[in-house]
Amino acid sequence: MTAPIRLAIVGLGKIATDQHVPVITRSPKFKLVATVSRHADPLASIPAFQSIEDLIETGMAIDAVAICTPPQVRHDIAQAALAQGWHCFLEKPPGATLSEVIALRDMAREKNCTLFASWHSQFADGIAPARAWLQDKVIKAVRVTWREDVRVWHPGQTWIWQPGGFGVFDPGINALSILTKILPNPLLVTKSELLVPANLHAPIAALLTMRDRTGMVVQADFDFRQEGPQHWDIEIDTDGGPLKLANGGATLSIDSREMSDSNTETNGEYAGLYRRFAELVVAGQSDVDVAPLRIVADAFLCGRFEKVDAFHE
Ligand code: NAP
Repeated sequence: MTAPIRLAIVGLGKIATDQHVPVITRSPKFKLVATVSRHADPLASIPAFQSIEDLIETGMAIDAVAICTPPQVRHDIAQAALAQGWHCFLEKPPGATLSEVIALRDMAREKNCTLFASWHSQFADGIAPARAWLQDKVIKAVRVTWREDVRVWHPGQTWIWQPGGFGVFDPGINALSILTKILPNPLLVTKSELLVPANLHAPIAALLTMRDRTGMVVQADFDFRQEGPQHWDIEIDTDGGPLKLANGGATLSIDSREMSDSNTETNGEYAGLYRRFAELVVAGQSDVDVAPLRIVADAFLCGRFEKVDAFHE
């Protein structure tokens, strides 16, 4: 058995605490050896640092870092880690811009490091069977409904409303990561309406129209103002009947018959991500999928921006 990968977490916030720490702690392939966070309480018996520079200065033996900060600061932290020869697991989205991610991909190659641009929704239970089922079908249309209450799911996360914070695309990009994984052809953005609160810098809602090379149309409705039932659904019309992914990809139904239903409270997506990261490190490979981020970038490039009422948490 090879030695566990000695890993540091950078950005000990919600996702690091809810998912990364428990999954790493349970995995025999990883050993959590340090955390880097400016405000979080240190984890019992794990050395804690204020910045990646402080961690580097100690000369600790580190093999890899998981960067769980907001996207705006991800690039510089990853660059510092790669310069040390450390493998990098990037939370989604892998950067605030496409150029940042490409620069990291090239640097990882030069340094012989693994760079993993993770997309957790691609590891939801329904995704692999949905992709397999769609393989021999003619896809006629796709509808995405990703509507959640930002006050419930992102309390206090002011970074989400800043430039580079993605606004409603922070969850919306999860839907896009599923589409780019399960659909056979690349998508082009043909129409994008972005609703930006008067006091903020990122959209609170977005309506996208996309199509592929066959003319198949995808409509996506992303909204952060959803009260009551929350929706993370993708519906696909095919010549073999309808397919639906609900609960962010966890529940797959074909012809209205439920094929899988996983418990979204488990750490299944993140266990899958860390298995993949370990495989990449061992194989000396990277996995840098920019397709979901490219769609978001295109939605901003060709978007019609509309100012809407100020939003206060
Ligand atoms: P969060 O709760 O705000 O945590 C991010 C942490 O990063 C903060 O606690 C903060 O810790 C650190 N940080 C470093 N520089 C920062 C800066 N300039 N501004 C703000 N925080 C900074 O956010 P999160 O929900 O964990 O999300 C982090 C990333 O994971 C995002 O890219 C998000 O899309 C992704 N993600 C989130 C979820 C989810 O359910 N929340 C799910 C999947 C993926 P210190 O202040 O202690 O340094």
